[in-house]
Amino acid sequence: MSQAEIIDGKAFAATLRARVADYAATFEQSAGRKAGLAVVLVGEDPASKVYVASKGKATLECGMASFEHKLPEDCDQATLLALVDRLNADPMVDGILVQLPLPRHLDEQAVVARISPDKDVDGLTPTSTGRLALGLPGLVPCTPLGSLMLLKDRLGDLSGKDAVVIGRSILVGKPMAQLLLAENCTVTIAHSRTKNLAQVVRRADIVVAAVGRPEMVKGDWLKPGACVIDVGINRLAPAEGQNRGRLVGDVDFDDALPVAGAITPVPGGVGPMTIAVLLRNALVAAHRNAGVALEDGAL
Ligand code: NDP
Repeated sequence: MSQAEIIDGKAFAATLRARVADYAATFEQSAGRKAGLAVVLVGEDPASKVYVASKGKATLECGMASFEHKLPEDCDQATLLALVDRLNADPMVDGILVQLPLPRHLDEQAVVARISPDKDVDGLTPTSTGRLALGLPGLVPCTPLGSLMLLKDRLGDLSGKDAVVIGRSILVGKPMAQLLLAENCTVTIAHSRTKNLAQVVRRADIVVAAVGRPEMVKGDWLKPGACVIDVGINRLAPAEGQNRGRLVGDVDFDDALPVAGAITPVPGGVGPMTIAVLLRNALVAAHRNAGVALEDGAL
């Protein structure tokens, strides 16, 4: 029985990061300063702390400046907005990322909307979202852009392909659908109210699963040969005697393997792309902010 090609997101992300590092060095020569990424962390959420630390490390590794700002859990909205305003005005800062989720007493939407669209490396401000919908240049959310890069690397031209995106979040599902539409795919967005989901998925040449339900998509939901991008990251309950459960995606990987043409594993698929694209977005923003030319498609 044939088996799907496993898409190595880790290797692809490493290549992208190396390219970012090369361009970061050339940028520094042209602009007379390093490209800079600021990350804001509010509170003590352990997962958020790990993400922020690894983003800071990755930023330094590719030769950019990293600015970490930590605010206490009980910080108020005005303090956080004032910090975002300062970073918006800081010429050394090209990208601003506010680590989400924020503590519940803070208005997340208002904070994200305050980020200058020119520094919006997460692509989540209303302006960035609007630019994507209008097909204008702008910064695009990292996970969907990374997923698109993997798809194009595997399939080349996506024009005319049937794509089903499962999930309609602002972070993944909606921007993913916009990106696929811009590549001339015929796009269906499925969600929790979609009827006959398996049937909908079965007509797709491209399936992007961004649901947050462990191993939901089964092999017999897939069209033979489909290219499957599994965005989900879910931790299963630990097996007996283990401290931590296994990480799995939204696709039942073993079940999909004999049916799909290609599939991203979890971990090692889309996950590593997210940080690599964040660095890429920061450097693209740096070129625009400093007025330094960057040839189309370079990053
Ligand atoms: P959200 O919870 O914001 O969105 C989940 C989406 O899935 C919603 O649109 C929801 O529909 C839909 N959904 C839920 N249940 C079903 C169902 N039974 N059938 C069909 N659709 C369903 O999640 P995110 O988009 O933020 O993240 C999705 C997954 O991707 C998570 O596992 C997350 O951890 C992972 N992720 C991974 C990243 C990476 O770097 N690899 C980055 C970001 C996220 P409805 O709108 O109707 O509620």
